[in-house]
Formats: sequence, structure tokens, C-alpha cells
Amino acid sequence: MKALRFHGKQDIRFEDIPVPGAIPAGHVRLQVLAAGVCGSDIHNLKTGQWISQLPVTPGHEFCARITELGSGVEGFAVGDRVVVDSRAHCGQCDFCLAGAGNLCRHMGFVGEVCDGGFAEQSVQPVHRLLPIPDGVSNEIAALAEPLGVALRVLNRLAPAPGAAVLVAGGGPIGGLAAILLRELDDRPVYLIERNEGRAQLLKDVCGVIPVPCDSAAIHAAMGGTEPAYCIEATGNAMVMEQLIAAVASGGRIALVGLSSGLCALSTNAIVEREIELVGCSVFREEQRQAMGLLERLSPLLRQVIDGPVGLEQILQVYEAAGSGANVKLKTIIQP
Ligand SMILES: [Zn+2]
Ligand SMILES: [Zn+2]
Repeated sequence: MKALRFHGKQDIRFEDIPVPGAIPAGHVRLQVLAAGVCGSDIHNLKTGQWISQLPVTPGHEFCARITELGSGVEGFAVGDRVVVDSRAHCGQCDFCLAGAGNLCRHMGFVGEVCDGGFAEQSVQPVHRLLPIPDGVSNEIAALAEPLGVALRVLNRLAPAPGAAVLVAGGGPIGGLAAILLRELDDRPVYLIERNEGRAQLLKDVCGVIPVPCDSAAIHAAMGGTEPAYCIEATGNAMVMEQLIAAVASGGRIALVGLSSGLCALSTNAIVEREIELVGCSVFREEQRQAMGLLERLSPLLRQVIDGPVGLEQILQVYEAAGSGANVKLKTIIQP
């Protein structure tokens, strides 16, 4: 079958590999229907940092159809469409047992510690499968994973009803968070996004208000007020500094953007103005909750995705996603 294979840092190849053999107990064979490339896929290509199986088939954002059941599989049938939970958490450690699977002591991800979805077929354990509601297309279902991450950010940010939120970074996670903020609650959402096409797209789709990455300009755009809630989805230290300067005293900044190294911050401002910084990692139940929102959000989500394109174009999709020049948030791949 055709598959994308990661062989090492800066070395991914589109290859022909054998289809997976006999299906282990508790697992299913999947025919991949639609998949998305994540920022972490790009990060892995550059650094190889999180990969523990080599070679590995990347891809943790995908929807698929079950074509074969291993022994002992219950609750799913051949023909069912499913989305895969991207987390390969151990299920045994203290965090997992306490329901905090995103903080697992042995955390790994599908496509990093085991083969993922950038292939015609994938084999996954049944506990990772989430059923797709009937009214949701394959392309939209492939967004359930990043939408779960965006929902996690909102849960961690916990903005007061109606309060304005400032989002820095209109990429897949920041963009989806902005859409959720606008759609789930009637509140103003301000967006810092240097890609003008993307800022305009999100303005058109959900009515965000684009603002420059400058605290004084943000306050001016907000009629002289300061945002009590911010989302940092760029991982860029300069952006973070502007958020610290922009946020109201006593306000909260939810961090979901990953940076590539150490980050110097104005800690005195954080102390003196009692700014709360909260980290947000993957999701707990949020991907499952996101499944329930997909149908309602479909008309909006459809406008922020490109494709589908064939699996053979995936190297170009990686390149375009890595450049940050894409207007759409995701290009959907269809093996
Ligand atoms: Zn992802
Ligand atoms: Zn664990």
C-alpha cells in the first residue's frame, strides 16, 4: 500500500509498503478516508524529537472506515466510520488512572510511537476509536483531533461569559479556538495573525477582529479596554511579550503554541500584575466533546479547509503547511 514514512530528521518518503498483517486481539483494520497534517508533524520532520519508532507512518488526525475486526472487539462493526484518539497514553500511571491521560507519564502519540494515518490502511486498538456521527463528512471528521485540542484550550482558559478574548495565532489551533469562541458564545474575539489572507478568512468565517501584534494598538482596537483572557497559539516569544503587555491585570493567558527553545519572559510583570499563565496539552474528554460539535460547525469548518488531495501530494502539503503561507487552516488528504 502507499504510505508516507518517516525515516529520520528531514527524511520522509512516500513509499509502497506491505499492508499490515494479521490484526491483533482488541485491534481493528482501518481504511483511511481523510487525514490532516498537524504542526507537530512538521516539528517532527524538522527535529525527529518525538519519534520513538523508526521508520514510522506519521499522521494522528484522521478518520477511517473499519474493514476488519480483531478478536474480542466489541461495540464496533465492519463499515463503521471512526476517528482515532491521537494519544498513545499508558492507561496505567497515576495521571491516567486519575483521568488526566493528557499528562501521562509515558505519553506518546499515534504516528510517533506507532504507525498513524498517512497510509491507505492503519491498525489501531479499539480503545482509541471514536464513532463519527452520520451527518458529518469524512473531511470534517478529520478535524475532530485539532478541534479537541482547541476545546481543551477553551476549557483551560475558562473565559467569563461574554468577555472578550484575544487570540494570538490563527493557525489550525488558534483558528479553531477562535471559531469555537465565536460560535459557542456571543463574545468579541480579537485575532493577531500576520498572514493577512488567513486573518481575513477568519474574519469572514466567524467575525473575529484582526489586530496588530502590539499591545497599545490592541488596547486602542478594544476601545481603551484590556483583554482579561488571551490564547497564545504561536509559540513565539515576541508575541508572548505583547500578550503579557496587553492582558489585563489579574488576567489569564492560555498557552498552546510550542516554541523551539527557551523563552525569555517579563516575569516581573507576571508577578506584579498577577497574570495567570496556563499550559494546555492535547485533550482529555475534549476530542469526544468535539465529535458532538462537528455537525453544527460543519458550514464554518468547510470554509477553512482545502482539498481533499491525494496521498501522493502529501510531501507538498507538508511543505506548504510548514511555510505558514497557506490561507486555509488545513489541507485534507484522502488516501
Ligand atoms: Zn494534531
Ligand atoms: Zn499514563
